[in-house]
Amino acid sequence: MPTPVAGEPDPNGADCVGCGRCCHHPPHTVHFLESDDARMGKRLLEIYTEEYLVPPGFRFMKNVPADNGIAGETRCAGLDVSVPGQYPCAVYEVRPEDCRIVEPGSPACLEARRLGHLGSSVEFHRPLP
Ligand code: SF4
Ligand code: SF4
Repeated sequence: MPTPVAGEPDPNGADCVGCGRCCHHPPHTVHFLESDDARMGKRLLEIYTEEYLVPPGFRFMKNVPADNGIAGETRCAGLDVSVPGQYPCAVYEVRPEDCRIVEPGSPACLEARRLGHLGSSVEFHRPLP
């Protein structure tokens, strides 16, 4: 996992690309609703997501090893780490609702910046239909 980031984040997300801490998390964290599937589309779903084999077979963003060489630590496969120190989301425009919930300055954001990865404070609330 990357090191924690000190200080308050820009409320409008101006320093998110230089942070990326909330995109570092364990597998099966970012899950998909049908609306998320539709927005992302088949091609990107095939590249970046996986179906969890345990019934009922929810779909999640894939995880890959974090880039620190520490066994077992992972990040979202959608995070583009091709430029050192930069953490843009490769599917930002079509990212699922789970990602949109973690806004800059939210409790989950602040915890992720403090820990270096998404912690247990994140809650994925769903409105009733
Ligand atoms: S932890 Fe906060 S500041 Fe960092 S990328 Fe996520 S939302 Fe942005
Ligand atoms: S889909 Fe994008 S915003 Fe969501 S966790 Fe992955 S890299 Fe981060």
